[in-house]
Amino acid sequence: MKPKIWLSPPHMGGSEVHYVQEAFESNYIAPTGPSVDAFEDALCKYTGSRYAIATSSGTAAIHLALLALGITRGDIVLCQSLTFCASANPIMYQGAVPVFIDSEPASWNICPNAAEDAILYYIRKGIVPKAIMVVHLYGMPACMQEMLYLSRKYNIPIIEDAAEALGSAFQEKKAGTFGDAGILSFNGNKIITTSGGGALLTDRAALAERARYLASQARENVAHYEHREIGYNYRLSNVCAGIGLGQMKVLDQRVQQRRHVFMHYKQKLENITGISFQHEQDTAYSNRWLTALQIDPAMLLGLRLRLFENLAAENIEARPVWKPMHMQPVFQGTQFFGSDVAQRLYKNGICLPSGSALTSGELDRITGCMLRSQ
Ligand SMILES: *Cc1c(COP(=O)(O)O)cnc(C)c1O
Repeated sequence: MKPKIWLSPPHMGGSEVHYVQEAFESNYIAPTGPSVDAFEDALCKYTGSRYAIATSSGTAAIHLALLALGITRGDIVLCQSLTFCASANPIMYQGAVPVFIDSEPASWNICPNAAEDAILYYIRKGIVPKAIMVVHLYGMPACMQEMLYLSRKYNIPIIEDAAEALGSAFQEKKAGTFGDAGILSFNGNKIITTSGGGALLTDRAALAERARYLASQARENVAHYEHREIGYNYRLSNVCAGIGLGQMKVLDQRVQQRRHVFMHYKQKLENITGISFQHEQDTAYSNRWLTALQIDPAMLLGLRLRLFENLAAENIEARPVWKPMHMQPVFQGTQFFGSDVAQRLYKNGICLPSGSALTSGELDRITGCMLRSQ
């Protein structure tokens, strides 16, 4: 068996262990501590966000964003359908009602027209949706200009799920800083990792303060542990934040490496009629967290399945595109606006190994296998 090529493995820069050691030496083996503060500062500096709250996961950060925006039982939340379940699950934690929105074919992200159809549908019924969950899938910025226009026009806050998009930008502004709240993930497979962790980004002081309070068990600022609300234990460990500090030093390098991986695939595969990639608009800059492509079944009959088989046989991990939330059994019966764009992306899509440590030999092994599968 040839050596395994993983889809998106962690890639340490070298200094992480120094910061972890520092946590041990100072005995800050706790949620919160100096590394957490420093990591939050580093995230603010890098993204340009005014506030950053490090959390135990990206999912926790999404839940905090909903909580801090006051989303509660029965509220309508529009959510991009083509995404990982963690964009939608926290809507359910709140007892709110997710309404799924189709993708547009260029970026694969939320379709502004379908989103406006949904908003108008609910406004006609006398209900204003309470938030819009916009995702930058595989690092590709969504149509932010159009989505921000809708947000202002109907006065609906945007939560930006930038879990996969740290380092991406739109009109030179970093992903995660457009919405009323943005969230990041540092899970093991993301562009940088803290082994597990996340962050909430916002420019709004009150929202940041509220999120921080709720993430720390809603403890009032008195010595005797007074509680007036239900809180959560969502803070990031100081040990994990140390890993994050090391990873921040190599983040720009990781973005370059992932973009290089994408360029390799593009050069080798773009001439095959029927293969197309996620499209970067002129003003968008993707971290290319994962290279994802579409295989047109009318032109390349059976190729997608053959690729999955042949790559697996060569010990290369590839993955289908996320199954849209409106097609998931757990969300059966929820409302969906749009047509079949997300469904087709799912049926025809494939994600290729995109790790930042891939060697040119490994990249050739992958594209070699793909070209032989035609
Ligand atoms: C990874 C991911 C999350 C959740 O992050 P965790 O840190 O794993 O909880 C949310 N949304 C998207 C789109 C993701 O890819």
